[in-house]
Amino acid sequence: MQLSIQNISKTYPNGVQALKNLSLTIENGMFGLLGPNGAGKSTLMKTIATLQSVDEGQVRLDDINVLKQKAEIRKLLGYLPQEFGVYPRVTAEEMLLHYTALKGVQGKSTRSQIVNELLVQVNLYDVRKKKLSSFSGGMKRRFGIAQAFIGNPKLIIVDEPTAGLDPAERVRFNNLLSEISEHIIVILSTHIVDDVSELCKQMAIINQGELLLTGSPTALKNSMAGKVWTKSITKEGMKEYEERYQVIYTRLEESTPIVHVYSDERPDDSFELKKPDLQDVYFHQVKMEN
Ligand code: ADP
Ligand code: MG
Repeated sequence: MQLSIQNISKTYPNGVQALKNLSLTIENGMFGLLGPNGAGKSTLMKTIATLQSVDEGQVRLDDINVLKQKAEIRKLLGYLPQEFGVYPRVTAEEMLLHYTALKGVQGKSTRSQIVNELLVQVNLYDVRKKKLSSFSGGMKRRFGIAQAFIGNPKLIIVDEPTAGLDPAERVRFNNLLSEISEHIIVILSTHIVDDVSELCKQMAIINQGELLLTGSPTALKNSMAGKVWTKSITKEGMKEYEERYQVIYTRLEESTPIVHVYSDERPDDSFELKKPDLQDVYFHQVKMEN
């Protein structure tokens, strides 16, 4: 399958231009859409999920026109929105049975079999009789993924799914996604670089509604090879480095600042060459833009 996004633009009624002539091609597997808050990720996700219109452009899933043939897409789609709204005072099991019926699955016993399997898959079977309103953040996210998996979707969209999860929940959630993504398209939107580097074979970076880069994380990292230099510095020295060098970002290692500098040549003997990671790619791109 192939999802093809062509030259889409969207301006909200308040004048914010959330998407600017954005084009992107997405194939089977897990695709990471990375960008800072406000980049336009949720706008793009809602558009693909047929919940929002655009001013210009086309979106196609193979030969389906996503923006027009909404009913066709909804049959193939699983969507976990960034904000899931209110969690009602019904049990996880009741709610999933309801969604399964809405998806058009016929037969009561078929529906409960599907729901039981989903509950096991997301590790909520033991709490299936508990009210959703009593669930923790991580349980809600896992419930959200269960509802997005109903009906064997061919296109799954998850919008910032790991925000607010503890480290163990995040690992579990990411494993779950990676298991199912082999033969379908899964689009993961996030501002967390590690989620993308752990999970995605293809990715894009967007900022201020524009596509900055797309490709495999490996290729994007390789494209910066030989140009990332690091050095541990003092907190007082940070400003000077910002002025003298093209600083990608400064991270802390046990409270000591390590500056990452972009340069074709070694800035001076005190710098060490570093193998670029996805943070370098991300910060370099987003910084060049601003
Ligand atoms: P992201 O998901 O990457 O954080 P969004 O797509 O939510 O980005 O937002 C992109 C931009 O559009 C932001 O500037 C945001 O404030 C604005 N925006 C999002 N939704 C609306 C809306 N319904 N009305 C007006 N502006 C919006
Ligand atoms: Mg968002």
